[in-house]
Amino acid sequence: MSAALQRREDATALTEAERVRILAKSARFDPPGVALPDGRRDLVGLSRAELAAELAAIGEAPFRARQVWHWVYHQGATDFAAMSTIARGTQGKLAERFVIGRPEAAVVQTSADATRKWLFRFRDGQEAETVYIPDRVEDRGAVCLSSQVGCTLSCRFCHTGTQVLTRNLGPAEIVGQFMAARDSYGEWPSPKGETPRLLSTIVLMGMGEPLYNYANVAKAMTIVMDNEGIALSRRRITLSTSGVVPMMDRAGAELGVNLAVSLHAVRDDLRDELVPLNRKYPIAELIAACRRYPGASNARRITFEYVMLRGVNDSVAEARELVRLIAGIPAKVNLIPFNPWPGSAYETSSGAAIARFASVVMDAGFSAPVRAPRGRDILAACGQLRTEGARGAAQGAAQGAA
Ligand code: SAH
Ligand code: SF4
Repeated sequence: MSAALQRREDATALTEAERVRILAKSARFDPPGVALPDGRRDLVGLSRAELAAELAAIGEAPFRARQVWHWVYHQGATDFAAMSTIARGTQGKLAERFVIGRPEAAVVQTSADATRKWLFRFRDGQEAETVYIPDRVEDRGAVCLSSQVGCTLSCRFCHTGTQVLTRNLGPAEIVGQFMAARDSYGEWPSPKGETPRLLSTIVLMGMGEPLYNYANVAKAMTIVMDNEGIALSRRRITLSTSGVVPMMDRAGAELGVNLAVSLHAVRDDLRDELVPLNRKYPIAELIAACRRYPGASNARRITFEYVMLRGVNDSVAEARELVRLIAGIPAKVNLIPFNPWPGSAYETSSGAAIARFASVVMDAGFSAPVRAPRGRDILAACGQLRTEGARGAAQGAAQGAA
């Protein structure tokens, strides 16, 4: 074997070892057991194969799994008694063993710009936030899902980063956020079979780092992509990561969803400070992982997210360095004006600085939309989500609004 080939094999083995380590660490934060005190379990969150096995265990034929799946994920049924194609006896057996629940919406707030935010409370009392961002023009929008309660990373500009990681969210809780959001807009196919439009995109950009909860996120996304249920195409799902390099390869190969990368700085010294994960996976490694991300093409670009912090990362020289770094990658750059939160240490770049930065990026041939802040009045904008110790304040605000 040539020395170069040996080196490449060693590097692959190292990455695999790193993935195993990340997955094992993540499993320590998994949610508690899903059974209710009466022994019933959540049906939402089971994979197709698990559901089929559960049905086989109570003597039901495999095609029943398909029917139940359709009721739960296509029709949005929450009651077995409503499943008219399923015999009464089977409905009863299912109801003894399972619930088709949703996380409890402890607080719901709607912004002046129609953005809606839910504080969901899970069975063990832990909470996370979900945001629906309606398109300003078309009759559609994106649901921003949380993947963890808190975050282990402490990006300096992010409100969630000030909340320690309590635990990962499980598949039932991740899919449940989306289903509960659809409930709230009456967005399940009508008996005539119209397809929901409003809540037709998922962005994994809420609380937490999805690639530090990969197993649960992957299972949840496999459920929402299943063609006989919610049936969202992988093109309608975007996973945002602060740069967990070894897991980017895995997510690309297994899920093939759109990738958004929180870059925010073009020099390692600054990125080390803003996104401390950079000390482990520096810019060069992150960009290399983007270059090899499967499925990226001009039709499916990688999004580089870049938060605009006044006087910190918003110079023209940095814009030039950015386009040098990402040259040749099918990419777009999303410029996010910094959203302040109580106690944050940064200011938003001026409109002129953002425009100058954008024009350098656009001149290099990349699209560079500026993300309009949405839902700032209810702390629903990017990076403003936080639930620990915020419960009382959020409830007070909701009551005030009611
Ligand atoms: N943990 C993932 C996804 C959640 S954060 C990640 O970091 O990518 C979603 C996006 O919001 C990220 O690009 C993040 O950097 C950005 N963000 C965080 N705090 C922000 C703030 N205060 N203002 C604007 N964007 C912010
Ligand atoms: Fe975690 Fe993302 Fe916030 Fe960083 S920006 S602290 S990775 S949620």
